[in-house]
Amino acid sequence: MIKRSFIGLLKPRLEYGSIEDTPSLKQIPTSKEITLLSNCPFDKKKLLLKKKAAVKTGQKLLLYKESDEYVVSSVTGKVSSISAYTGDFGRSYTAIAIEVADNEEIDDGFKFAAGGSKDATLETVENYLAFAPGNPPVKLFSDKDKPINTIVVCCADSDLLITTNQHVVKSDIDAIKNGISILKTITGVNDIIMVASQSQMHEVSATGEKVNQVNDTYPSALPHLIMKDILGKVVPAGKNPEDIGVCFISAEAVASIGNAFNSGQIPVTKIFTLVKKDGSKSLVSARIGTPASEVFKAFNITLNENDRLIFGGPMTGSSVYSEDHPIQPDTDAIMVQDKDDIPVISDYPCTNCGDCIRVCPANLQIDMLVRLLEGGYYQEAADQYDLYSCIECGLCSYVCVSGMPIFQYIRSAKYELSRANTAEATNG
Ligand code: SF4
Ligand code: SF4
Repeated sequence: MIKRSFIGLLKPRLEYGSIEDTPSLKQIPTSKEITLLSNCPFDKKKLLLKKKAAVKTGQKLLLYKESDEYVVSSVTGKVSSISAYTGDFGRSYTAIAIEVADNEEIDDGFKFAAGGSKDATLETVENYLAFAPGNPPVKLFSDKDKPINTIVVCCADSDLLITTNQHVVKSDIDAIKNGISILKTITGVNDIIMVASQSQMHEVSATGEKVNQVNDTYPSALPHLIMKDILGKVVPAGKNPEDIGVCFISAEAVASIGNAFNSGQIPVTKIFTLVKKDGSKSLVSARIGTPASEVFKAFNITLNENDRLIFGGPMTGSSVYSEDHPIQPDTDAIMVQDKDDIPVISDYPCTNCGDCIRVCPANLQIDMLVRLLEGGYYQEAADQYDLYSCIECGLCSYVCVSGMPIFQYIRSAKYELSRANTAEATNG
């Protein structure tokens, strides 16, 4: 998702944001209702969780029979509704709304199961911390088909303007240290690589782990480029780092694991960067599930008709269409864009200027690729022009003089192809 107006406020080199330019953290009061989104498509017949069920803060909520997917309640209250929710590209989720009670009670399920840091097990982390802030990739740790040999801890933020992980490193380095020690114990992986920007090198070194410096220009901190430039490994087209034994995890997710075992409570507060219409930034903390509208209320932001709301950073974030969209465990940024600053998506044809090809870190022949994508020839785009080698940096859309939504085409094509492949596999 491209927002030239935000990027226009940066230096021309597309440098990553610095925490030094971001005011101190503002806490959003707990709202009257929060909404937790589960990746499971809504299925009324298999629901385990019931409307009006009482829940406590930090309580694990299993949603469906025959499924181990869960969410963790970030508040104490009563389930007010369970419904279907449609996200990006028509993806289906289950939305669990919880009406918040006046008095907070902390659930002790995790404390009971976990013990202290020394007793941490892979099973406990999998069973309780998948919904923690930063979204720890717990399933990757126990996937027997894809054994992990290296864990990369990203202390730098991967998209422009965001300073979320930088804040966690600055404020919670002891939790990160504890989280790393737990990760080593539960996975047996000792090859931990910390990736940090130049300004973070000193702080991150305090963990005692190997620290590698990532370049301060976008898109150096995207996982595929870290793999190539720091680990010297090329991720094959259409694959992810975990397919070749490398697991990426954010500093915030590591801190969540460390804090959970330190305190005996699952953390339920997400840190994110708010980018306002004038491009200024604030660091914010809010309960997971807080509607974006509550954040705007706290900052006196009004969203007018045709303004745009984006969850994520300026290069890789996604537009959402409701101010009530909730903060999720992986929401690192929320951006609001005035309608007059939204770049026009044109229907001009490609002029073959070649700018997109020059910026593409994957060396794709984008001028040809985009022609197939525009026509809906997704499989041909994959077979002939290497669609799956795209690392989803969004630079092509940013530079396109014709204002073509190339990145949206690419994401949508990958999603449609994955749906078609899943349907084919299911139908045999
Ligand atoms: S095709 Fe576009 S989004 Fe994909 S890697 Fe190249 S420049 Fe980035
Ligand atoms: S930048 Fe846009 S107009 Fe130029 S070659 Fe690429 S797709 Fe065509």
